[in-house]
Order: sequence, then C-alpha cells, then structure tokens
Amino acid sequence: MKELVFVTHNAHKSEEVNAIIGNHFEIKNLSDLNIFEDIPETGSTFKENALQKAEYVHKKLGCNCFADDTGLMVDALDGAPGVYSARYAGEPSNSQRNIEKLLKNLEGKTNRKAQFTTIIAVILNGETLFFEGTIRGKIIETQKGNGGFGYDSIFVPDGYDKTFAELPAEVKNSISHRAIAMQKFKEFLTQYSK
Ligand code: IMP
Repeated sequence: MKELVFVTHNAHKSEEVNAIIGNHFEIKNLSDLNIFEDIPETGSTFKENALQKAEYVHKKLGCNCFADDTGLMVDALDGAPGVYSARYAGEPSNSQRNIEKLLKNLEGKTNRKAQFTTIIAVILNGETLFFEGTIRGKIIETQKGNGGFGYDSIFVPDGYDKTFAELPAEVKNSISHRAIAMQKFKEFLTQYSK
C-alpha cells in the first residue's frame, strides 16, 4: 500500500482520517515516525498554515505528505476564533478553556450560527494541492457528549440535534468539515493512482 504522512500529533484526527482513506493508503502520523517536535503554524489563513505544516515535514523527510488546518468560525463573533481556534484562550492550547471562553463571548447572543472549515494541503510527488471542507451548524449553550475532541461538545451540525461529541464517530466522520475535505482528497487520489 502507498504510504502518506499525515502531519499531525493529534491521535483523534489521525483515527478520523484513517477511517476515511485508510483502506487505500497507509497513513503514518508524526508519532509513528517518532517526530515529537512542534510544527510551526504561524500563517494568517488556514491555507497558509496547512501548507506551512506540509512543507515543513516535506523538507525534513522528503516524503509525500499532507497537513490540515481547521478552525471554528462563529458568525456573531465575526468569524472568531477562526485561525486562532487552537489558541483562543491563550497558550498552551487547551480545549476546555477555549470552549469556556467561546461560551462566555456568546452569552446573550441569539445568533449561534457557526461553521468548521478544514483546508488540507497535500504535497504529492512534487505537486501541491489543496482541498476544502466546511460544515455549518450552531453553538449550543452547554457542553454535551464525550466523543470527539476540540470544540465538538458545543457544535451541533445543521440537520442534527446532537453535538459532534454525542454523535457516533461514524456519523461525524461521514459529514464533518474534515470528512468533506478528505473525501475530495480521496477522490483525487483514486483518480491519481489509476
Ligand atoms: P488544528 O488546525 O487541528 O490545530 O485545529 C485548530 C483548533 O480547532 C483546535 O483547537 C482543535 O481542537 C479544533 N478542532 C480541529 N478539528 C476539530 C474538530 O473536528 N472538532 C472540533 N474541534 C476541532
């Protein structure tokens, strides 16, 4: 099976991505490769950050690799936390504190609409490609569910009445921002390897 390096230290993300393209490609994450250093992420857009992460590992290992950058954008907060989603409540990144800050900033706001967006940057045999996925939904007032990670426990996708953290992983993995971007990536890879 062809090997692809997923530039992430996040085991949850790695599982999600494996569930989507793991049948077609052998996905290795940074821990599999014994890389434990922080990968720089200093861009001002998802695209810049995803590319920066993919290029960093490509330069280091010379392998085919891909990286994603994701953020939650809340309409009533003018798209915040956006590219700062991981560090919303400061460094070091802490999901619980990020959620608490977001809920506080949304107190009293009636518009709870939000979206997750993922951009995947791929470096494949010298070519650079991008794939995007977005899912709309709303931010609820209190956390619900124990699955998933990050902001999952406060995000209810449109068309559902449960948070990403309450929905079974198979459901999240079939509808999420990352799933949409990964499906596009998978379709490309399927054509590419024909
Ligand atoms: P990153 O691009 O993976 O660094 O993610 C940025 C921020 O968004 C981090 O705080 C993550 O925890 C959060 N995040 C990324 N993907 C998801 C997701 O699928 N659900 C909920 N939060 C996420």
